[in-house]
Amino acid sequence: MSPESPPSPAAPETLPPSEAAFARAAALLRGGGLVAFPTETVYGLGADATSDAAVAGIFAAKDRPQFNPLIVHFTDAEAAEAEVVFDDRARQVAAALWPGPLTLVLPRRADSRLSLLCSAGLASQAVRVPAHPIAQRLLREAGLPLAAPSANASGRISPTEAAHVVASLGARVPLILDGGPCAVGLESTVLDLSGPQAVILRPGAVTSQDLTPSAGSVLEVVAAAEAGDSGGLKGPGMMASHYAPGHPVRLEATEVAANEALLAFGPEVPVGAAETLNLSPSGELREAAAHLFAYLHRLDSLPVRAIAVMPVPTSGLGAAINDRLRRAAAPRASR
Ligand code: AMP
Ligand code: MG
Repeated sequence: MSPESPPSPAAPETLPPSEAAFARAAALLRGGGLVAFPTETVYGLGADATSDAAVAGIFAAKDRPQFNPLIVHFTDAEAAEAEVVFDDRARQVAAALWPGPLTLVLPRRADSRLSLLCSAGLASQAVRVPAHPIAQRLLREAGLPLAAPSANASGRISPTEAAHVVASLGARVPLILDGGPCAVGLESTVLDLSGPQAVILRPGAVTSQDLTPSAGSVLEVVAAAEAGDSGGLKGPGMMASHYAPGHPVRLEATEVAANEALLAFGPEVPVGAAETLNLSPSGELREAAAHLFAYLHRLDSLPVRAIAVMPVPTSGLGAAINDRLRRAAAPRASR
């Protein structure tokens, strides 16, 4: 059983960053094609955000339900201001935390050039300025805003290495820029600033403590995995089983069976698993976040009955890690 949907027979081209690689990637994007590239969070599947046909190509490659809105990436806040409406609060947040792993949901401008497919019919648009040097250079060379969801088949674990993109999308993406493993390893925090109350729609690398100095009071939505379905939710990362591995996932494991793989955390690890990977033997949440998806991919490829996951603290970055783990363990209603 393959944990990912079967890739097409032909392999995509994977290139390390070089002058020639950026030139080819930029030309592909300007021609309406797809390019996968690293950001500090996960690998993105990028397309010209101003082209309906190019953005439709993302949905096709990911097998993604059309109603899901996409994050559009920009070189800087000024470029984003051409497409969405910033108020003073949004400017303060952007000044404090961009470039970085934070997505802002803001009202779409009436004169925005972005494809309506990016906002999936909503009046708001999600925008981000990534910090990763490869993402930055690609955005500059392409000279386009790039719509870029995570570069994996819909509903699957997000890719934090070029090899994960190859395994999940195969030749559905012609070119992957290889920047090695992603430093953060978790998707961006999604902060809705389209209304008077700032709301975290998706927990991520930027925590509510990081946000309050610039955003003021911030609400956190109840995790969709607890809500149990996607009714009324605003985006794909909010669906309960959005990060599903192929194997069942068992949370809060304090012992482990011989036919299980163990995703461990911290210095005290139960013995007896078929295979154990430790997110952070010293118990550091930042290290654990960076390893999370890569280790899930590896354990999911093993012939075991289930993946057992040790408890991870819920403070700071732990909120985002536990959010992804709950989704990985959620019942697989629809995918
Ligand atoms: P992904 O592209 O896989 O990183 O997932 C996109 C995430 O962005 C979803 O989880 C949504 O929470 C969020 N998102 C994108 N666009 C919007 C929008 N217009 N309104 C609210 N949330 C959005
Ligand atoms: Mg995703």
